[in-house]
Amino acid sequence: MLFNQNGQLTETMFNYPENDYEVFREKALKCERCNLRSTCTQVVMGEGSLDHKIMFIGEGPGASEDKKGRPFVGRAGRLLDKILQSANIKRNNIYITNIVKCRPPENRNPTDNEMKACSPILKTEIKYINPKVIVPLGSVASRYLIDSSVKITKDRGKWYNKGDLYFLPTFHPAYLLRNENMKKPVWKDFKKIKKAVDRIEELYNI
Ligand code: SF4
Repeated sequence: MLFNQNGQLTETMFNYPENDYEVFREKALKCERCNLRSTCTQVVMGEGSLDHKIMFIGEGPGASEDKKGRPFVGRAGRLLDKILQSANIKRNNIYITNIVKCRPPENRNPTDNEMKACSPILKTEIKYINPKVIVPLGSVASRYLIDSSVKITKDRGKWYNKGDLYFLPTFHPAYLLRNENMKKPVWKDFKKIKKAVDRIEELYNI
């Protein structure tokens, strides 16, 4: 598990600098810790605001992301941008990343070992952002970040918490591309997320 029940990261030892995000990023981009690096084009790091205390986390980069070196920039990413825009959430005001930073072959799910190998990078991103809300996108991210018992079709749109850290799982935009009828429930989720964004901005004077 990434977090304990109090919402704290389960490990405190990191091999990445915790006081200079750009240095950390540069170091992470050179990672070759697992076998995914041998089949992908490049490491795709997260991007966005380090200040707004909200993270969106998917499972791994797809083909477009692998090519461009940025997260959520393919068809699914463009759909996510549209939903964010409709919900009046600025993409620049959130941090978007993935559990694994290298594209799994054929877009398969990352394995437990791959997610574990990549966890120091995700944990360091979490350290920098210190999120109050995390939005896991899709089943793999929801189970990894919240609990292995989470079922995305049943549990999306529900708030979960570990201490002061809140999670709102929703469908991955790639799933929405294949299941148009799920856009309506996701819209409801984003209304909740927008309220949380406003609340965080108010509380932390962002
Ligand atoms: S997936 Fe993560 S751990 Fe594996 S090589 Fe890429 S950056 Fe490193």
